[in-house]
Amino acid sequence: MSWKKTTWTGWGRVQSATGELARPERSAALTALAAEAPAIGNARSYGDAALVSEGRAIDMTRLDKILFFDEADAVIHVEAGATISDLARILAPKGFLPAVMPGTGFATVGGCIAMDVHGKNHHGAGSFGQHVTEITLASGKVLKPGDTLFKATVGGLGQTGPIASAKLKLLRAKVDVMMVTERRAENLEAFLDLLDESEATYTVGWIDATATGEALGRGILEEGETGAGLVPPAKRGRRVPFNAPGWALAAPIVRLFNKAYYGRVPAKGRTLVKPIDDFFFPLDRIHDWNRLYGKKGFYQFQCVVPLTARGTLRSMLDAIATSGLASPLAVLKRMGAGRAGHLSFPMEGYTLAVDFRNRTGTRGLISELIAEAKSAGGRIYFAKDAVARPEDIPGMYPELSDWAEAVNAADPDHRYETDLTKRLTLRSAK
Ligand SMILES: Cc1cc2nc3c(=O)[nH]c(=O)nc-3n(C[C@H](O)[C@H](O)[C@H](O)COP(=O)(O)OP(=O)(O)OC[C@H]3O[C@@H](n4cnc5c(N)ncnc54)[C@H](O)[C@@H]3O)c2cc1C
Repeated sequence: MSWKKTTWTGWGRVQSATGELARPERSAALTALAAEAPAIGNARSYGDAALVSEGRAIDMTRLDKILFFDEADAVIHVEAGATISDLARILAPKGFLPAVMPGTGFATVGGCIAMDVHGKNHHGAGSFGQHVTEITLASGKVLKPGDTLFKATVGGLGQTGPIASAKLKLLRAKVDVMMVTERRAENLEAFLDLLDESEATYTVGWIDATATGEALGRGILEEGETGAGLVPPAKRGRRVPFNAPGWALAAPIVRLFNKAYYGRVPAKGRTLVKPIDDFFFPLDRIHDWNRLYGKKGFYQFQCVVPLTARGTLRSMLDAIATSGLASPLAVLKRMGAGRAGHLSFPMEGYTLAVDFRNRTGTRGLISELIAEAKSAGGRIYFAKDAVARPEDIPGMYPELSDWAEAVNAADPDHRYETDLTKRLTLRSAK
């Protein structure tokens, strides 16, 4: 298998790595590489989780076959490079869906396991890893829920070695379209109350991160249910052809955009029929949308804080709105307690995710937000982070040392370290 010198970036395009990538097409080629380097998927993690500077990584995206589909038991066995949108596209007409889908369909099964991702149904369905019934590592080792190495692999940032394939328990759902109800919340308290009261299967909230004063934290709650028998509206795909200029997401433009976006939902709310992809992967419709932030790229901050930390969310949103650095992309959601690995992100609480242009002051603002999340008893998400320091992490992830012990035993030569695990010295935790 040949290694090719390449420079690649995280999705935020602030951090990049120059190293060597191999792109095996057959599982035998992967087996031969298994002990050499960590695996990466589509590098949809925003920061440095999928980067290996001056090192090697195995690009898994060509290993995307469906190995077996047991319709009676609703279990699928897939290679780890298969993407979530491919699975949804193939399974939906048969009456199934991946039980958990993150906000991008470009995420691979391997990337979803290694981050133990959550979807818009986390409050009911739990995390991705809770629906994984078996993992086969490229070394040939087979892991089942309950095994020590399973807990270190799910949410384990690829540190137990490349995942070759996995068996996933699917959701049975006859789904041609999504029925989506949109409701406005006029401020943060109203928004959090709506989230608490919602009984919908899928929920997600867009938040106007530029609103201040009495409108602080206003937004739109989307509640979705699967629907059958309706013809999905025609699809359209777009591409961002070049890096947007620096002023494209300047503060006054974002404020105007957000005002219009909030106002497009009538005060009494509305219900719409949406294609499946438009609801689950809204940003994927615009290819390379990360170029909208220009050449300097952007950061995403995502944290989860306990349900009791409403005041922390208020203070975070205040800091964000007055910074003038927010973009239109800001999401608020309620999470349940479901998680499957030592380093899984989810905990019961509210999760806030906000994109920021890469400008003077952005890293400082994110550092403040990280400190606030930590002191409220919350944590940040490794799939998004590019700013945290090693000392920020242990209090947020109480099982960090259990994870480090398991992965250091599985990989004593540290062959699977990435830029993220090195930056945060995660594997040195005692
Ligand atoms: C628009 C957008 C929306 C998103 N929405 C959500 C969301 O709603 N919920 C959520 O939880 N996340 C969300 N994410 C984050 C995304 O789901 C994760 O970053 C996911 O890990 C990306 O998958 P990937 O295949 O690109 O993995 P990569 O980013 O390439 O890698 C992520 C990690 O997985 C490891 N890895 C990848 N493949 C393997 C493998 N085969 N074996 C072992 N380790 C492997 C890598 O080493 C790395 O540590 C979103 C990202 C984007 C861009």
